Amino acid sequence: MSVEGPGGDQYDGLAYYRVDANGERLIVLPATCRAGRHSLAASGYRAVVGSAEIAVECQACRAEGASPAAWRLGTSGSVAARAELDDQPYLGRRRWSEAAPTGRK
Ligand SMILES: [Zn+2]
Repeated sequence: MSVEGPGGDQYDGLAYYRVDANGERLIVLPATCRAGRHSLAASGYRAVVGSAEIAVECQACRAEGASPAAWRLGTSGSVAARAELDDQPYLGRRRWSEAAPTGRK
């Protein structure tokens, strides 16, 4: 099931949050770009926080002119103090996971 975001682009669901040992709220962003081709930590990313969503754009895809390069995640509650990159919460949402080899069952 897909949900259309405010901009009409594909919407990737709600952002995942966690609270660290200091009680600080973190937003967890996907570690891999939406195209599944780059590590955001390595290629760099730009997170644009809107009123109800955050767009996470891959700088490598942007440099190549590939589109759309941004994850669009819904945000909720107060703005997170920090962000971290982790693919785990997003494993089920990656479009490209379906295209990945599955021969090792
Ligand atoms: Zn990319």
